[in-house]
Amino acid sequence: MIPYDYLIVGAGLYGAVFAHEARKAGKAVLVIDKRSNIAGNVYTQEIEGIHVHQYGAHIFHTNNKDVWDYITQFAEFNRFTNSPIANYKGELYSLPFNMYTFNQMWGVVTPEEAAAKIEEQRREITGEPKNLEEQAISLVGRDIYEKLIKGYTEKQWGRDCKELPSFIIKRLPVRLTFDNNYFNALYQGIPVGGYTQMVANMLNGIEVRLNTDYLEHKAELDALAEKVIYTGAIDTYFDFKLGALEYRSVRFETELLDKPNFQGNAAVNYTDHETPWTRIIEHKWFEFGKDKNGNDLPKTVISREYSSEWKLGDEPYYPVNDEKNSVLYAEYKKLAEAEKHIIFGGRLGEYKYYDMDAVIASALDMSRKELV
Ligand code: UDP
Repeated sequence: MIPYDYLIVGAGLYGAVFAHEARKAGKAVLVIDKRSNIAGNVYTQEIEGIHVHQYGAHIFHTNNKDVWDYITQFAEFNRFTNSPIANYKGELYSLPFNMYTFNQMWGVVTPEEAAAKIEEQRREITGEPKNLEEQAISLVGRDIYEKLIKGYTEKQWGRDCKELPSFIIKRLPVRLTFDNNYFNALYQGIPVGGYTQMVANMLNGIEVRLNTDYLEHKAELDALAEKVIYTGAIDTYFDFKLGALEYRSVRFETELLDKPNFQGNAAVNYTDHETPWTRIIEHKWFEFGKDKNGNDLPKTVISREYSSEWKLGDEPYYPVNDEKNSVLYAEYKKLAEAEKHIIFGGRLGEYKYYDMDAVIASALDMSRKELV
């Protein structure tokens, strides 16, 4: 007899949502993960009372009320609002692009003046923007493109802005108001107690085996369940038989500093070409510099983030959704659809630059279809 209805490969958000829903529907589920911890890339680890975002900053934000109602079952969220600062060769700018930024860049004071400045600069782009560079200039003009977008984007993606798809830059709002909130989202915050605790709550009562590599023990693990939910990289699953998809990886240099305040903000982006890191995260500011009892924390933890091309053995973080990779992914997707007992999901399984809320929405959607 087969002991589990579902084997869920990966204890990140996609896997945890599906596992929770399947258990609620009365299914027998087993979650495995090759890492020694749950929570995938939203994993947070406590250092000196600070929840350190081990795999990069995760700020939860959504416009989807269903997703918000869903996730808040597992954690209370604080009122953190993401307002990163851009540091361009020592000049500081507000992000996303808004009246504060336009004032700092051009000295303009009114929305009309800012709009006129942008209009004057965007004229160099005629017709539909063909790539990220053209899209950026047509949104905010060349000055902002050169100082706040080009260097950061090329470091993050390791590619020229002319080679990148324009949708990436459309993630950023452009506003003619004084509003430094990075996200256009009705709901935003950081789970109190950390993401790891939140995912542990989702997996409450569910069997989880860590340090278990699915592809290494595929035959014996497959024999344990009727169906597999796979949230790892799709090309790895197929042993790269159509070729490797490209990903960006990220390396963090994390330091505990014996001072209370390093940069005065959770995120500072280094938008020039010369600085080797893309941003520095100071984790304590996600929770206003306080410990769980509301006391000021005397130390701080910072992470410098370096972006690199993924190679075998690295953690894949960002799919590179350019033309070439999208075509290759479409071929892998056909192979995936031909496999009857496995469902591919999440950022790596679907090769998609998903935010957390979109991953949750996608896992809920799939659960509703699957668990009828
Ligand atoms: N971006 C930029 N300058 C910035 C921040 C973001 O040009 O200071 C652009 C860049 O193209 C980047 C995209 O916006 O790839 C998304 O950046 P974000 O930092 O929001 O991505 P995340 O890593 O948080 O998913």
